[in-house]
Amino acid sequence: MPSARSATPRLDNAASFPRLAREYRTLSAMVWIYCHDLHGEDDGPCEECRSLLGYAARRIDRCVFGDDKPTCAHCTVHCYNAAMREHVRAVMRYAGPRMLRRHPVLAIAHLIDGRRPAPALPDAISARKSCAPLTTNTSPGPS
Ligand code: SF4
Ligand SMILES: [Zn+2]
Repeated sequence: MPSARSATPRLDNAASFPRLAREYRTLSAMVWIYCHDLHGEDDGPCEECRSLLGYAARRIDRCVFGDDKPTCAHCTVHCYNAAMREHVRAVMRYAGPRMLRRHPVLAIAHLIDGRRPAPALPDAISARKSCAPLTTNTSPGPS
């Protein structure tokens, strides 16, 4: 019987890809804040938000920058499709200002990550780049 291959092998190997794993934890926390507050869920993200998380996990896992990835807000590539990009922007707009209070360690790490410039890409990839940056506001705000 063939063994099932993980859809997110790098995220499943956090010891080798700690930056990717932390990025996913940060996004998960933001999605949960957003879904809990705006979708009224108490037992975990709703189906729509789970779908976003699954999609984002696969994008983060396959990020062309690997464990040197910048924050997606400062990416020079942008690999999300338009609908998911809009959804994750809404999540970031809402949850970003609430992260410092609810998840201070992740929020500060994300702010530090946001200062890292995107690494250079191979020419073939940079020739295809097209992106509008996501905006993440992690300044403290009302909850
Ligand atoms: S948007 Fe950019 S940084 Fe984020 S996962 Fe896609 S390629 Fe990587
Ligand atoms: Zn939701």
